[in-house]
Amino acid sequence: MSRFDVHDHRHALKQIRDTGSTKLWENRKEVRCPVCDAPFVRLFTTRETGTTFPESDGARFCLLRDDEAIHLFRH
Ligand SMILES: [Zn+2]
Repeated sequence: MSRFDVHDHRHALKQIRDTGSTKLWENRKEVRCPVCDAPFVRLFTTRETGTTFPESDGARFCLLRDDEAIHLFRH
């Protein structure tokens, strides 16, 4: 499983929200989820110890944790 660096996909992701420690991105292209390899719809990243995730419609999501943040890929 690979790491995911938003900066590698800057051209394909549109930032919707940025609170400093949490960020929400929309996938404008077909960037693939590093966990399951399927394209995702939105990406939420958090550097907080505890975070309440944004409301979801029940869609499947994948979690990726690295040294800096937790990434939540919603499909
Ligand atoms: Zn996934």
